[in-house]
Amino acid sequence: MPTKQQLSILRTYLERTKNRLEKRLEDHDHFDLKRGHYHESMGELSSYDNHPADEGSALYEREKDVALNEHMEKEMKDINHALKAMDQGTYGTCETCGKEIPFERLQALPTATHCKEHSPDQVVSRQRPMEEGVLMPPYGKFEFDDKDAAVYDSEDAWQEVAKWGTSETPQDMEIPVGDYNDIYPESEDRIGYVEDYENFAGNDIEGKNITIYPNDQHEKFEEALDDEGIMTTFGDLKPYEIDSYTEEVLKRRKQKEEDQNNRKQ
Ligand SMILES: [Zn+2]
Repeated sequence: MPTKQQLSILRTYLERTKNRLEKRLEDHDHFDLKRGHYHESMGELSSYDNHPADEGSALYEREKDVALNEHMEKEMKDINHALKAMDQGTYGTCETCGKEIPFERLQALPTATHCKEHSPDQVVSRQRPMEEGVLMPPYGKFEFDDKDAAVYDSEDAWQEVAKWGTSETPQDMEIPVGDYNDIYPESEDRIGYVEDYENFAGNDIEGKNITIYPNDQHEKFEEALDDEGIMTTFGDLKPYEIDSYTEEVLKRRKQKEEDQNNRKQ
């Protein structure tokens, strides 16, 4: 059991803390939680003219007040409980096993009415806010850009709808762009096809009967090839595919000339 002098020190400490807490709770009227609606504590009449973000800040503050108030009220309850034990002469012994609580423990935690083994608060909660379980980086698990996969992912979905405008306008961008279509990286990505010619070339189920369906994209494709001076986007065709007839004629002519030269010799 603590000595009379030790008890006196602890009682003074508990009473002082109690008075301080009581005054604080009284001064700010339990964090204004006694008032009905939080608009009252903020002096607001209505939410209509307020920005949603301001409403969010106010709600956050209200939640904080609830937590702080709960913490202070719990502390008050513990202090009153310890003071009552002092009055009854049971202070300093464990409420569960009746063993003496070491003075060092009482000094560190004057509200303690249990020994270390029987303290109701054995573990510090490691629980994380439940929203952390669903919070993810932008686009979450549906972004595949770094996985080198050509799939339509959440980022593509965002870019598709973003073309109709977002809270960011072209002039908000660091590097100024002409219109919404050029705002995002890879916004020129093709959707639903890989190569341009898939827009106008088709074949049957066996890969035969290649057919060209003339359309705007076909025209643009042909123009682009002409501009570049190339036959296809994947390189020039092999010589025999250029023009088999002229190739063959040239070959025969060359052979003829060689034969004539041979005869002359
Ligand atoms: Zn105990």
